[in-house]
Amino acid sequence: MTIAIDGPVGAGKSTIAQGVADALGILHLDTGAMYRAMGLKALRAGIDPKDPAAAEALCAETNIAVEMGPAGQKTLLDGEDVSNLIRTPEVGAAASAVSTVKAVRRRMVALQQACAAKADMVVDGRDIGTVVLPNATCKFFLTASPEVRARRRFLEMQQKGAACSYEEI
Ligand code: C5P
Repeated sequence: MTIAIDGPVGAGKSTIAQGVADALGILHLDTGAMYRAMGLKALRAGIDPKDPAAAEALCAETNIAVEMGPAGQKTLLDGEDVSNLIRTPEVGAAASAVSTVKAVRRRMVALQQACAAKADMVVDGRDIGTVVLPNATCKFFLTASPEVRARRRFLEMQQKGAACSYEEI
């Protein structure tokens, strides 16, 4: 069984996906974390994450993996557990930039499909029901008003101590 939850940033996909996974006793794959790991790698390598050739070359020599268990998802970048390092606004921006590179998306989609084939899981991201798991058992598109999405993201940033205003978001 696979449950796909698509939708825009800040709509609450990950929160709902985790709740559904907990309620059903199955795993939750957070695909954004994989793009974030690639974004972190780009920042560390000092490349322009929007440069397709540079991002493709970097992606080819990068190993991203996830370990999933009842305690949640561990995201591994070249074997290093980066689960906590990828939650900063800088990494989020780099993730967003690398995610526009076709070769990076191809690689991540293949990884996500391989992962979802192994067990029952809830998978969330913006392209899950359309591209990654078009034959998912159930598909949901979750959205919210721009104000609610901005408020959610603002509170999340505040909790992390990041300095940005609701208006900016
Ligand atoms: O959801 P999260 O903020 O962790 O995702 C980080 C970035 O990765 C998003 O801003 C988006 O650009 C990208 N992403 C994507 N496709 C997915 C998941 C995330 O392009 N399935």
